[in-house]
Amino acid sequence: MRRIAVLTSGGDAPGMNAAIRAVVRTATHHEIEVLGIRRGYLGLVRDAVEPLDSRSVSEIIHRGGTILGTARCEEFRTPEGRAMAQETLRRHGVDGLVAVGGDGTFRGGLLAGQEWSLPIVGVPGTIDNDVAGTDFTIGFDTAVNTALEAIDRIRDTAESLERLFFVEVMGRTRGFIALEVALAGGAKAVLLPEEHTDVPRLCARIRSGLARGWRAIIVVTAEGDDAGGAMRIAAATYRELAMEYRVAILGHVQRGGNPSARDRILASLLGAGAVEGLLAGQRGCMVGQVHDCLVYTPFAELLAQPKPLDTHALRLVDVLAG
Ligand code: ADP
Repeated sequence: MRRIAVLTSGGDAPGMNAAIRAVVRTATHHEIEVLGIRRGYLGLVRDAVEPLDSRSVSEIIHRGGTILGTARCEEFRTPEGRAMAQETLRRHGVDGLVAVGGDGTFRGGLLAGQEWSLPIVGVPGTIDNDVAGTDFTIGFDTAVNTALEAIDRIRDTAESLERLFFVEVMGRTRGFIALEVALAGGAKAVLLPEEHTDVPRLCARIRSGLARGWRAIIVVTAEGDDAGGAMRIAAATYRELAMEYRVAILGHVQRGGNPSARDRILASLLGAGAVEGLLAGQRGCMVGQVHDCLVYTPFAELLAQPKPLDTHALRLVDVLAG
């Protein structure tokens, strides 16, 4: 293997830069050249390519976002688009591809891997943690910590005013962020897409909690909850409880910021693992970390079923609410 390419795709996540750095430096260590593809699969289709060396990735391990940029690329969903992407790689003499992204990125990687002779290894980079084949995705820990910092601040004012706060965190289809934020933030309840939200039951819980002495009540909601966003759920509880409330929607602040130590380390291990995997003949798979071990899972396998949510942790939120 003489030359590989690296791209970041889908939603950006803190730690993607640390992953790029690890890919470039590991490849350089093995005397392999690296090309950076700009804006994910779009850069492959449009031939937006730049050489990366050890120095091009200096001073990026601590920066959020991705120096390569990322984009949604509709063309890559078509065989014609993927053929153009393959042509770009062929023209530049690329022998292997590292794709950092989420489920969508690996869906594209699965199809491309079936159509091309070129090996592709994926690295899980998304704040949502909704990728099977790895305990955690790059960016998740930072997003949880960012949301937690906001909750801690909200708690200060919630305690002083004895109010009900609804805090909406990211998670359109999965509740991994909401669950960890709720558990770490001492929330009284968590509402997420995996479970049906029963507003009267939530109100009954709040009423009985108040009777037991709850003062600051924080309810964490994932944006994709089946009862609607935090605004709608809060308004519905007001109709039953007539208790003053506030809503905080954290939104995109959760995406940015410097990656946490955990995310930098995970990105370093997985970025290096992707290159080592390519060298060892891995293809059509994603490198993840499961129980502290690097694991290569075929794209088809990890896309076949959704990553399970920790239901024990979910029940614990209620128990520890007191
Ligand atoms: P993520 O990788 O974070 O899940 P997306 O779902 O936006 O983000 O996917 C990133 C890119 O992967 C898309 O813009 C598209 O180019 C490609 N992709 C997603 N799904 C498919 C698919 N079914 N077939 C081919 N390419 C896909």
